Amino acid sequence: MSSVRYSQSGDSTTSRSRLIIGLLVMVLLLVLGLAWQANQTMRSHRATTTSVLQDYARVSADEFVRNAMAQIGFYGYYTLINLQRRQAFEDSDVLLKDRVFDADTTEARAKRLANHFFELDMRSEQIATSGDELISPEIEDYLLRRGSDLLLSPLPESGLVIDHTVLGDEPYTFVMSTDEASDRVFGFEVNRDELSRWLRQTFDDAPLLPESLADGAISNDFIYLRFDDSKGRALFQSRQDYDPYLLVSKLVGNEYEGIFESFQVTASIDPVIAEMLVIGGLPRSRLPVLFAVILLTVGLLIAAILQLRREHALMKLRTDFVSEVSHELRTPLAQIRIFAESLLFKRLRSAEDERRALEIIDRESRRLTNLVENVLEFSGQSNGERELHFTHTVLAPLIGDIIDEFQPLANSVAARVETELDPGAAAPVDKDALRQMLLNLLDNAVKYGPAEQCVQVSLSAPQGRIEIGVSDQGPGIPRSEREKIWRGYYRLDRERQSAIAGTGIGLSVVRETVNRHGGRIRVEDAVGGGARFVIEIPTGNRP
Ligand code: ADP
Repeated sequence: MSSVRYSQSGDSTTSRSRLIIGLLVMVLLLVLGLAWQANQTMRSHRATTTSVLQDYARVSADEFVRNAMAQIGFYGYYTLINLQRRQAFEDSDVLLKDRVFDADTTEARAKRLANHFFELDMRSEQIATSGDELISPEIEDYLLRRGSDLLLSPLPESGLVIDHTVLGDEPYTFVMSTDEASDRVFGFEVNRDELSRWLRQTFDDAPLLPESLADGAISNDFIYLRFDDSKGRALFQSRQDYDPYLLVSKLVGNEYEGIFESFQVTASIDPVIAEMLVIGGLPRSRLPVLFAVILLTVGLLIAAILQLRREHALMKLRTDFVSEVSHELRTPLAQIRIFAESLLFKRLRSAEDERRALEIIDRESRRLTNLVENVLEFSGQSNGERELHFTHTVLAPLIGDIIDEFQPLANSVAARVETELDPGAAAPVDKDALRQMLLNLLDNAVKYGPAEQCVQVSLSAPQGRIEIGVSDQGPGIPRSEREKIWRGYYRLDRERQSAIAGTGIGLSVVRETVNRHGGRIRVEDAVGGGARFVIEIPTGNRP
């Protein structure tokens, strides 16, 4: 009956554990869902901020190109071509060879932009150049070819034409104009180093982002900007470092006579000013925090599952214990009832049989008492201890009485109990507790040892303590188990297969009681095999 009841309660425990684990797994899923959601929000915030910062980078790039076109186009190329045109009109040197301008005038600055000035006489197909080096035949061919093209079509309104080309692997920019009346083409080749300086100057001269932004706190120092020619060779770079995620680049079109046609401008805003441009700035990745939260939740889940498993195992031990106790109660009770009835109804024939029946009733009722006392003591350990009364006792007579009391149980398996007791040994003990401890050890000795064995009980009094030893001729306790046998409900594996009944609480009660006497208990090999349990109790300081 009871085992059925307990197995039902076991089932309900299992389903409760399942429910709790199910709830915990749901919490984990919820945390994962929230983490995913948080990550998505962070990513979309980041994407928005990135796109705003890229827009600002585009604005800066456009502004830079516009400024550069105005500076270089108007104060550079246009000024130089106009000077050449004026010289041509005056019929003097368009190569500006000997023209010296006052330092720091627009003309002086513009002149530095030219590597060579050249003049093509298309009637005679002659070319004249300034500068000491002669221009290469490749360039000469190119200029003559372009010169004849230019004379065929009208000049644009600005009066100049700009060519970007590659000759012999080198990029060149030529700025040209024509004098139709005399079939002449003139112009200059752009000095790339000076062009780079002009670009740097343009960058340094004016802020690329409007000053109204963030109260003018955003200077060009926070802008990475690179300007490459159509062959990808860098003409200008504002700084070294940039955030690759914020980089934007665009090709320049043919505005302003194609002054920078097919050049590429690349820009990026320093993320440190993101906060000034976008509320909240560029959000930092929350992944580490989210991972930590997920790990913590998984950890808690594992801890909860382990705890549940432990409780489950304990519950099972208790269930086994209860059915073990019921079993142990049933056998002696049945014996007592049968022999009591036999006596009552005078079914036994001889006085000898009657005596045997009474012995059995006596033995079984002792066993029952011992079992019930153990259970009470064991449950007392967890529900508040029974009070002990210590009296200084000479132990040999007490132990002798206990062995007498045990004799019927020993007789039932024809075991002999031999003693070797120091008559003077005395210690402060609770007599009932000592009786229970010794009965447990004797009971185990008889239970686990062979029939007709000899159980030895010794009492000695070494310095400061007494020692009570109980040895048997049974299988002994393997070394690896000697720590564990004291735990409540613990039984050796071999007992599960054998028919020896037991509850696994006897030794736990013994150890707890020895501890309360301020003593210790140990188990060792008995001489000649078997187990020897030794109780040590101090003779002095009582706890
Ligand atoms: P129980 O005897 O009810 O099983 P105990 O707490 O008294 O519980 O003992 C725990 C376990 O220790 C026993 O199940 C048994 O395996 C082992 N044991 C105890 N005493 C002896 C002994 N004298 N010889 C061999 N094994 C023993």
